[in-house]
Amino acid sequence: MSLEDILSRVEVAEIETGRKKGSVNIIAVSKVQPVERIKRVLNQGHRVFGENRVKESLAKWPVLIEEYGEIELHLLGPLQTNKVKEATQFFNVIHSVDRKKLVLKIDSEVQKRGICPALFIQVNTGNELQKAGVALEHLEDLFKLAKEEYSLPVIGLMCLPPVNEPPLTHFKKLSSLNEHLGLSRISMGMSNDFEDAIKSGATDIRVGSAIFGSRS
Ligand SMILES: *Cc1c(COP(=O)(O)O)cnc(C)c1O
Repeated sequence: MSLEDILSRVEVAEIETGRKKGSVNIIAVSKVQPVERIKRVLNQGHRVFGENRVKESLAKWPVLIEEYGEIELHLLGPLQTNKVKEATQFFNVIHSVDRKKLVLKIDSEVQKRGICPALFIQVNTGNELQKAGVALEHLEDLFKLAKEEYSLPVIGLMCLPPVNEPPLTHFKKLSSLNEHLGLSRISMGMSNDFEDAIKSGATDIRVGSAIFGSRS
């Protein structure tokens, strides 16, 4: 597959669900991909990318930004508090806010600089033991803490469904939670299931291997 294939499949899903063409944000997930593959996608004009690790991103993106100009960068992977300073300076959007300690640390960093990336709260919709994401029963408290108490720019919810379950149930669950909290953006859907995600209301899909090829 390629970026072009994904763009046209996204467009079909947008039309089928009565949404505006180009309204779904396609995050090209470039983690571990060789730089030539990333440049190929940049050369096709794409400017929205996602990464899992702060360190890898800092090693890779500054040169590309110098060469290609502004890039919208999304952090998708788990965030440790000792990486929050770098992450809030470097990324435009963070998808993995999932605990109180992280909210407090993000707040203290952005207080110093006055700007904050847009934030998604990651929800552990499958209640998986070692999975990142806030547990369903703690979502509302975490949301209120981040959005109301600290006035952080929480724009939506994110999920990563369990690998061996049909994702659609999780997409629908996330979508209804999103609506309940009155949030406008939903981050869900990857290479194998982004069409279902769009049909369930995703506004931000995270597509890696279907754009770049499989990761070694
Ligand atoms: C790797 C990753 C993706 C992309 O996965 P693909 O199956 O390659 O599309 C999306 N979201 C997160 C959080 C990831 O870690």
